[in-house]
Amino acid sequence: MRTKIAATIGPASADIDKIKKMINLGVSIFRINFSHGNLEEWKNYVDLVKEASNALDRYIALIGDLPGPSIRLGKLSEKVHLKRGESVRIVNADEVEGGKSKILPMPLKIFFEQISPRDIILMDDGRVQLLVEDVDKKEISAKALSDAEITSRKAVVVRGKDLQLPTLSSRDIEAIKFCISNDFDYIGLSYVRNIRDVEELRSRLTSIGDKDIGIISKIETVEAVNNLVDIVDASDSLLVARGDLGMHFGLEQVPRLQEIITERCLERGKPVIVATQLLGSMMDNPIPTRSEIVDILTAIKDGVDVLMLTGETASGSYPIEAVEWLKKVVETYDSTVNPKKIKLAKNVDIRDKFAEGVTMLAESLGASIAIYTKTGKTALRISRNRPIVKLYACSGFSKTIRKMLILWGVQPMKINALEYREGLEEMINALKSSGEVKTGEIIVLTYGLRDEPMHLVKVVQVQ
Ligand code: ATP
Ligand code: MG
Ligand code: MG
Repeated sequence: MRTKIAATIGPASADIDKIKKMINLGVSIFRINFSHGNLEEWKNYVDLVKEASNALDRYIALIGDLPGPSIRLGKLSEKVHLKRGESVRIVNADEVEGGKSKILPMPLKIFFEQISPRDIILMDDGRVQLLVEDVDKKEISAKALSDAEITSRKAVVVRGKDLQLPTLSSRDIEAIKFCISNDFDYIGLSYVRNIRDVEELRSRLTSIGDKDIGIISKIETVEAVNNLVDIVDASDSLLVARGDLGMHFGLEQVPRLQEIITERCLERGKPVIVATQLLGSMMDNPIPTRSEIVDILTAIKDGVDVLMLTGETASGSYPIEAVEWLKKVVETYDSTVNPKKIKLAKNVDIRDKFAEGVTMLAESLGASIAIYTKTGKTALRISRNRPIVKLYACSGFSKTIRKMLILWGVQPMKINALEYREGLEEMINALKSSGEVKTGEIIVLTYGLRDEPMHLVKVVQVQ
C-alpha cells in the first residue's frame, strides 16, 4: 500500500494475536500514547510489538507520543456521566472518586487562575462541552451543554485560550527516556506551539544521548497553525491531530486545515500523518459510516503519508475490524488515485531537483525506482514527488528501514551492504530474488551522497 497505516496500542489491542493480525493486515507503524497508562504498560506494549515483529519477520516503526504542554484531567476512579444542563464541579486535585458525585479532578493550579465565566471547556475531541458558570481559586462550576461521559486523564481545551505551560513536564521526560532506551523510531510532540518547542525537545533528546530518533510535531493549536512553515522545517514529520484542532478551531475548519498542513508538508518535503476519528464510529460499531470512508479517501487524494487509527484500536470495541476497513479503503483506491504532484520551488536544493528528475525518468520509462540509502533522506526526497511507479528503498541499517516505513509509496528493503557501491549490486539481486522485479523490467537505480551535490543514476533492464 502506498498510503501507510498506523495503529495506536492500548488496552483494546494489547494482545499478541491481535497485534500479529494487524501487522498481517498491513499496519507497519504502532503508536503508544504516553498520556495514558504507565511505564509497566508501555513496556508491555513495546515487548508485544517486538515479539510480533520478530515472529512475522517484519520491520515495524514505533512512535512514542508525548503528552506535551497539555492540560489533562486527573484520575477518576469512576466515570462521570452528565446529562445536558446538569452541573459539574472541577476541583484542584490529582484524583477524585467521580461517579455520582459529579466532581472532576484538575491537577494544574494555574488552570483555575486562567478561566473565567462563560468560557467553554472541551474534552474528548469535542464530545464533551462544559459552559463555565462560576470560578474561584480552587473550584470551577460548569454546566454540560450536551450529554457526556467523562473518563480519566482526558485532555482539556478552553476554546480560544492557549494556556501557558512548559514544553516538557516530568512525565514527558520519563517518556523520552523510555523511548530512547527502547529504541523508538519517532517521538511525537503534542501541542507544539512554535519552533522553540521543537528545538527544546531536540536538545533534550541529544542531551539524553539520542542521535537518530525522528521528531513528529503534532499540529493541534492555533499558535502551531500560525507558525506552520517554521515548525515543518524544524521537524522530521508532522501530524494533523484533528481531535484537538477541532476543539481549538471548530469542527468545520478541520478539513481546510488538514489540506493546508498536508500541502505545506509536501512543499517542504516532510512526511505527514493524519490522525483521529478516521473511523470514530467503529469505537462501538463493527461497520463504519459512509462519511468516514469519504474522509479517508480525501486524505488519500491529498497524498498524506500515513493514516493513523487512535481510539479505534486503543480502546474501541472493534480494533481489528477498524484496521480491516482502513486497509480495504486504502487498497481500493491505492492504484487508481494518484495524489496531485507538488511543484518544487525554484531555489530548492540540487538534491531535490535530482530526485524530481529521477522520478520523471522512471515514470517515462515505466520503470521501478530503487534507492540505496544510509539515512533515508534520498527516499524522502523521491517519495515527496509521489511517483506513480514502484519505489524501493534499500539500506543496511535497520533503524533507517524502520524510519522509512512512514514514507508514502516507499517499500523499504533490508540488505547487507553498508556502502553505496556494493549497495547497488546487492539491491538488484535482492529485488530479483524476492520476485519484486522480473526479467525484462526496467529499474532506475540511484543513491545520494550525503555531502556532495553528486549523484549516480543507473538504468538497468533486469536479465
Ligand atoms: P491525545 O490528545 O494524545 O490524542 P487522546 O486522549 O485523545 O490523547 P488517543 O490516543 O487519541 O488519546 O486515544 C483515544 C482514547 O483511547 C483515549 O482517550 C483513551 O481513552 C484511550 N487510550 C489510548 N491509549 C491508551 C492507553 N495506553 N491506555 C488506556 N487508554 C488509552
Ligand atoms: Mg493530542
Ligand atoms: Mg486523540
